[in-house]
Amino acid sequence: MSVKTAVVTGGASGIGLAIAERLRADGHNVAALDLNPSGPSSHKADVTDRAQVDEALAAVREEFGPITILVNAAGQEGYKRFVNLTFEKWQRVIDVNLNGVFHCVQAVLPDMLEAGWGRIVNISSSSAHSGQQYMAHYVSAKSAVNGLTKALALELGPEGITVNAVPPGFIDTPMLRRSEERGLLGGSIDDHIQRTPVRRVGRPEDLAATCSFLISEEAGYITGQIIGVNGGRNT
Ligand code: NAP
Repeated sequence: MSVKTAVVTGGASGIGLAIAERLRADGHNVAALDLNPSGPSSHKADVTDRAQVDEALAAVREEFGPITILVNAAGQEGYKRFVNLTFEKWQRVIDVNLNGVFHCVQAVLPDMLEAGWGRIVNISSSSAHSGQQYMAHYVSAKSAVNGLTKALALELGPEGITVNAVPPGFIDTPMLRRSEERGLLGGSIDDHIQRTPVRRVGRPEDLAATCSFLISEEAGYITGQIIGVNGGRNT
């Protein structure tokens, strides 16, 4: 395998952190972008701010060279009855979960086009499949990420770039634990396990393994797909 340079947004926590660690173990050069970076090759950037993204990516290129793998895992959830949802909150959730993907893909794309090879994986959400009450902004953003994935796959396939979405469902991360603590899951994590066909909560490593495969050479015929990692909760 040739060593590639990968950027993982949201790479300081939960799913993004596990993906960054896995891609590093696979032998790639990996840089993380996050609001509060920690660990090796971590860069501070708010994905909604193009100037910050460009600055962080310039530092990554300086350290490792052209970026040909991008995993968009940065995300922010939100819970509000739609009737009380302010437009500002709606916009922020769309901004982080959807516009952040726009900025990061567009900012790394020149490297992939130049290389004639690239892998993009967008971490969306199983809620885009099932819907989720009180999360209209989040579900809308994640559904749009799935749509963006399909459109980009068609556009970039001839350039040697694959684009796939991985919607997680019910993965044990700080985000899920915060939701449980706030009583927003409609029961405890243990209650949910009983409603999950494989009878366990998902692990960030489940997502990391999927991403590792999707960015491999072997996965070159897989593009434009929405590959759920959800223990069978959504089929
Ligand atoms: P997490 O532990 O909260 O990790 C998300 C990371 O993204 C955090 O480090 C967060 O930073 C960072 N982030 C948030 N806004 C950002 C921004 N504007 N710019 C840069 N980084 C930003 O959550 P997770 O569960 O691992 O979630 C990872 C992805 O999976 C998200 O896209 C989420 O929507 C999706 N997802 C998760 C689940 C699940 O069951 N856990 C289910 C469906 C979808 P701070 O912590 O500093 O805010």
